[in-house]
Amino acid sequence: MTGRPSVKGWCPGAFRPMQSGDGLIVRVRPFLARLTAAQMLGLCDLADTYGNGFIDLTNRANLQIRGVADGGFDTVLDGLNALGLLDETPELEARRNIIVSPFWENDGETARVARALLQALPDLPELPAKFGFAVDLEPERVLQNASADIRIERYDQGSLVRADGAIKGLPVARGEEIAAVLELAEWFVANRTADNRRMAHVLSHRSLPESWQLCAPRAASPQPQPGQHPPGTLVGAAFGQMHVETLARLIQQNGVPAIRLTPWRLLLLEGVQARNLDGFVTHPDDPLLKIDACPGAPFCASATVKTRELARRLAPSISGSLHISGCAKGCARKSAADTVFVGNSGGFDLVRNGHAWDAPEKSGLRPDDTLAELASHP
Ligand code: SF4
Repeated sequence: MTGRPSVKGWCPGAFRPMQSGDGLIVRVRPFLARLTAAQMLGLCDLADTYGNGFIDLTNRANLQIRGVADGGFDTVLDGLNALGLLDETPELEARRNIIVSPFWENDGETARVARALLQALPDLPELPAKFGFAVDLEPERVLQNASADIRIERYDQGSLVRADGAIKGLPVARGEEIAAVLELAEWFVANRTADNRRMAHVLSHRSLPESWQLCAPRAASPQPQPGQHPPGTLVGAAFGQMHVETLARLIQQNGVPAIRLTPWRLLLLEGVQARNLDGFVTHPDDPLLKIDACPGAPFCASATVKTRELARRLAPSISGSLHISGCAKGCARKSAADTVFVGNSGGFDLVRNGHAWDAPEKSGLRPDDTLAELASHP
């Protein structure tokens, strides 16, 4: 067994990158999950010059550049600052774990509350680094499965502030959301422990006061799919990763003025009906949106196998979860998958129901063998 990589109690950010097998991971948290075309193209340049040439989408609707060498980090930080993608301080960045509905409107409720929450970040108590907020105030509730600890959802004429893990929340009038969020955050801090650092974990050990469990949110909408939506075109990124050239072409050929990020490996191309979508996923059932595969060879120095090539070959045959990892570090997926193929000395190890770093049940598989293994355990 290779052994599990250490679990970090914090999320990487721009100011605080995380060391990975292929260099530093620099995570960028765009404000309201939106980047202008100029910001995204600038990010493409940084990823091309100092990273591995890819930009990853995260499940918190952020972006990350991987493979940054220690020596290039300061220049990347300067570049992000010039693009207007940095917070004023590392402390503010660390607190700014806010996911917004990608369907927000500039004068709508989601944007209003998200901006108020940004203003209130210094007033929050000391929270664990992964603690986050979901602002989901558009007519369709779409962030129900996004990672968050306090949810602000639409409710009658006001909002519902709900602790993650609770079925019901507290209805508040328009404009009173932030006071309620601060109060709920204080309750969390008073009841958290060293082991229970997320709201849902705390709620599994402590009872939330009844006064915080008055009303259920409106029914959730299905997860949005690739296609045309009122604010623009949603397109998917296979494996949640985009090569900078493909991304730049998408922006330029479609005249995209701005891009919004989602937690679902989908990008919203704001204000356009995009037609030139080569290299992106446009069908809701495309398995490339579900497979986890790191960049692999030749993009990462730790890899001895081509991960994406194999992922595309296996995609039509998958039914359960599939993780293809260039090495046992398992950067693309930290949770267990039904099937994991792990690059090892030019071949693949096979792990079932586990992680890239778990003991394999088979080794030395060639790419052709992997298809047979997948078929034997559909
Ligand atoms: S090969 Fe993949 S899993 Fe291994 S360090 Fe590189 S990106 Fe991470």
